[in-house]
Amino acid sequence: MADCIFCKIASGEIPSKVVYEDNFVMAFHDIEPQAPTHIVIIPREHIASLDHVSDSHKDLLGHIFLSIKKVAKALDLKDGYRVVSNCGHLGGQTVSHIHFHLLGGRQLQWPPG
Ligand code: 5GP
Repeated sequence: MADCIFCKIASGEIPSKVVYEDNFVMAFHDIEPQAPTHIVIIPREHIASLDHVSDSHKDLLGHIFLSIKKVAKALDLKDGYRVVSNCGHLGGQTVSHIHFHLLGGRQLQWPPG
């Protein structure tokens, strides 16, 4: 999608610090990390949010979660981590391309703000 920051990251048009990528997903360091480890995982396909997924995305969603686990292991988050997908305005989503935050490296609090 022409105006989407994460599509531009996926295509390499905007540089990012990539930690994992394959034909379907990309994982890169968040530009404003909220924890010692803060990775954003996106599908290469433009999907606006979790609210926009359909049955046709089942395999992709499974692949995303398996990729998140792979990244967490590669970054040695063995003491635990959190995976978050903000959805829509009240969910705090600021980039309209579905993504999953992988946060770790410190004690995370609950509930989030
Ligand atoms: P959201 O607020 O939509 O849940 O998450 C979007 C995330 O993308 C934010 O944590 C923000 O810091 C990150 N972000 C926004 N623009 C860029 C960028 O150009 N590069 C990188 N690496 N992260 C970005």
